[in-house]
This record gives sequence, structure tokens and C-alpha cells, in this order.
Amino acid sequence: MQFIRPEILRPPSEHDSYFLPLTSGCSNNTCAFCSYYGSKLQLRDVNDAKREVDALALYVESGICLSDMPPIVYAISRGWDGKRIFLQDGDALVYPFPKLKEVLEHVNRKFPALERIGSYATPQDILRRSLGELKELQKLKLGIFYMGVESGDEDVLKAIGKGIGVRQMIEAGRKVKDAGSILSATVILGLGGVAGSTKHALETAKILTAIDPDFVGALTLTLVPGTPLYQQWQEGRFSLISPFQSLKELKIIIENSAFTDCFFSSMHASNYLSVRGQLPQDKQRMLNTLESVLQIGDSSLLRPEFLRGL
Ligand code: SF4
Repeated sequence: MQFIRPEILRPPSEHDSYFLPLTSGCSNNTCAFCSYYGSKLQLRDVNDAKREVDALALYVESGICLSDMPPIVYAISRGWDGKRIFLQDGDALVYPFPKLKEVLEHVNRKFPALERIGSYATPQDILRRSLGELKELQKLKLGIFYMGVESGDEDVLKAIGKGIGVRQMIEAGRKVKDAGSILSATVILGLGGVAGSTKHALETAKILTAIDPDFVGALTLTLVPGTPLYQQWQEGRFSLISPFQSLKELKIIIENSAFTDCFFSSMHASNYLSVRGQLPQDKQRMLNTLESVLQIGDSSLLRPEFLRGL
């Protein structure tokens, strides 16, 4: 079957990267809120991926475009600074290890000055890899993994079909760190609904403390039509928290978590307010910002609904 190149869905911090697809879809396509829900995982042929790397190298060296390469390759290359590559798609770490190594070795040969390679990874993918394998990947510059923690609340993880519990989630996060790689964790405000809001936030602070990631990105739940959570909401079985409640959750998470050294942000377009800082040192400043917006309670201080994105 022909590999269908996925749309570019990437973490905000990868905006300058070249996007190299190794897979399409997500191997764990059961998360009730996610646009990858029900997606069919496709693995790209390794030689096909290497051909794209060759084409990219040729373009960077000499500006030559090959007619058999899709135009998107050159559209991305034009704005590329040559420093980072992001492997698509929803969990590129699921790509079979020997093939992943082969592609990474090829990338390293063609771009020796590359600074880093990143990918999304499910906790299941991480647990499937040995520590030694993760270290090998790190040596080949696949050194940052974006893992969706979503919540530290066991009930929420179950309800959203994450397919993994709190203990394994912590194990996966710690494993990335033990391998010497960078871990960026994502959590989703509002995932516990109105009734579970405070518990979701408190438990999320706990799991983040236990994992101690290098980066945390907080997103705010945005319902995607066609997903089970969207349907639950339509049927009145799930209630969305208000924009100000999302700030309260953010405040609870920042207040109750303890990190060694973590860049924490809510810069993602789904959020109603962007706060960011290095924790622990910026904790009070971030809490003060949230508290003052909560106290004023003026929705003009928040990102308008029409400007929110996934
Ligand atoms: S593991 Fe991640 S990408 Fe896959 S369905 Fe769940 S949230 Fe979406």
C-alpha cells in the first residue's frame, strides 16, 4: 500500500524543524479526545524515507529539486535552518527499531551538523524500547521525545482510553530521562470535565512532579468532531470547563508541582492565557499572573474562542 504523507501536526517548539514522516497515524489510536482517534497506522518504507533525506541534502547543497519528490518537501526545506528534524507522525518511536536506526544513521551521514532530532512518543512506545536502545537513539541525535501525559488522574486516563496507567506513565517518562534524552510532557486542562476538574489538576501536578520532565506544555481541551469525547459532550455526558476554570487548573498544577529544572508553558494556541517560565524559579511570578487575571475576571484578557487552535 502506498504511504500517504500525513498532515503536519507538531509541537510548537518544532516550528523551525524539517518534518520527515516515518509513520502516519498513531499506534495507540484510542484516546477519546484526539484527532488521531481511530487513525490507521502506516509505516513508511525505509528506502523511501532515505530517498527523501537524499533529496533534502541535494536541495540544501545545490538548490536542485527532484521532480519525483512531493512539492511539500521543498516547501518545508525553504524555511529550514538545517538544525532540527522532527519525525512524523503521532508516535514515530513505534517505527521498528532497526529501521529507525537505519534512517537516523542516514540522516546523520547526510547532515553531520544537525543539532537534534525529535519525535512524539507514546508511553507504550517508550516502555517497549530498552534503556540501551533509547541511549543508541540519543547518540544518533534522536534526543527529544514529546509524550502525552494528559492527566495524572487514574480515572481520567481510564475514561479517555489512554491505554496506560499512572505508574507506567511515570516509568516511561523516567526512562527517557535515564537515557539522557530530553522529555517534553503534555498535559490537557479540562480533561476531567467540570466535576473532576480539581482532582485532575492536583493529580496532574503529582505525576509531573514524579516524572520531573525538562519541558511541560499545558494545552486546553478542544473538542474534535468525530471523537468519542465530542459525542459524550453532545449527549450531555461530559461538561467542558469554563475558560477561567482552565486558568484555575493551570494555577493548581503550577502551585502543587515541584521540578528540578523545567520550562513550563501554556503557549499552545488552545489555551486561553499564555504563561511561561522556568520552574522552580519563576513559580511565584507565574502564579501571580494567573491570580491577577482570575481576580479581575475580565474575559477580554483571554484569547478569544475564534483564535484558539488545536
Ligand atoms: S497516543 Fe497521543 S497521538 Fe495517539 S491517539 Fe493518544 S493522544 Fe492521540
